[in-house]
Amino acid sequence: METPIPVGLSHADSRIVRQINMHSVFALLRTKKQLRVSEIAHLTGLSGATVKYLLQRLMEMRLISPVGEGNSTGGRKPTLYALNVSESVLCGVEVIIDRITVGMLNLEGTVLWKYSEEIAKPTPSDLVRVIERIVRRGVATLAISMDHVIGTAVCVPGFVDDKRKTIILDINMGLKDVALGEMLQNALAMPVFVIEEANAWLLAEAEYGAIGLPENVVFLLIGSALGRGIGGAIMLNGAILSGSRGFSGEIGHMSLDPEGPGCTCGRKGCWEALGSVSSLVEHARPFMKESAGKGFPALLRELVTMIESEDSRALPLFERFVAIQAEGIANLIHILNPASVVIGGEIALFGELFMEPLRERVLRLVMEPFHAGYSMRLSTLAENNALLGAVALLIQKAIALRQENIEQS
Ligand SMILES: [Zn+2]
Repeated sequence: METPIPVGLSHADSRIVRQINMHSVFALLRTKKQLRVSEIAHLTGLSGATVKYLLQRLMEMRLISPVGEGNSTGGRKPTLYALNVSESVLCGVEVIIDRITVGMLNLEGTVLWKYSEEIAKPTPSDLVRVIERIVRRGVATLAISMDHVIGTAVCVPGFVDDKRKTIILDINMGLKDVALGEMLQNALAMPVFVIEEANAWLLAEAEYGAIGLPENVVFLLIGSALGRGIGGAIMLNGAILSGSRGFSGEIGHMSLDPEGPGCTCGRKGCWEALGSVSSLVEHARPFMKESAGKGFPALLRELVTMIESEDSRALPLFERFVAIQAEGIANLIHILNPASVVIGGEIALFGELFMEPLRERVLRLVMEPFHAGYSMRLSTLAENNALLGAVALLIQKAIALRQENIEQS
């Protein structure tokens, strides 16, 4: 049975509506655990026939399954449906400058198994080889078969062509035109997708965050790649803005000062060159106790303590750092008019020490008509953001691909 196309919608529109409905049913089962058709219909506002159709499709994708019978209100006992938590596993991979992390997650977003390995300047085939080895190890450790894994999604920094599943350029890792998706798909014999880092963090926040997101959001990743990067992801009217090749959101390379310091991109005064967390740490380093030999995370924690204790040498550096972020954020608020600016990354360690002065500064910079329209907060997810974003993409893709197959058949 096919759901009818609502009046006034094209075939493509109706496909999107079905995807959204299927995703809402899936998300509902994730929060409510077990529901019967009538309850899903009541909670989503969809008809019973539409709910049955969507459940059937979700079952074919192995995302949900019938789990027993509910109490009868007279007549036959209704079937209860739930996520297929014990049968299906999602594989998320995070690649950062010198580290690969692979996580096996269940459909609720719980990490069942996770493993991290250092990798220095990998070639494309190194990347594929290491990811494949860790994925197979995860499957063996969980005592499941590869068939239980619905797919793999890899979160990478740099420029990503998500349609071609290709890393177009990552300066820090020295990768160019790497068809990672296709290479991994051949190695693992399962669907593989590639997602850019900041987009993954935004998807994770949208799907697994503690506070629901409005439809218009700017997500800032301040301090990715060991504090060096500033990335952005933009959600407009509920959809992530990808642009013609998927490169939207390169906000770290918005120049805030044409006379500023040189950036890895070749320009001067980029937001990332002026206001990265790693440059803040470097500037504060001479004032730190025994900083020699300490890694970036330890230096960052020490800097947080210095700001907490209002260290007179570190405080002016931090104020300048906040001022740079505020300039960039005010630009974005003027351009995009978001309802919410959500910030994640290494900067979150500073918590309200950062957010409070930032809110004040941004408010001073944005034009009056924008004042009442936006809020700013830190990400609610404390860990595994990239992995959660990757598996959120997998679920979206599983639903979208299934839809395409149905239409082709
Ligand atoms: Zn730049």
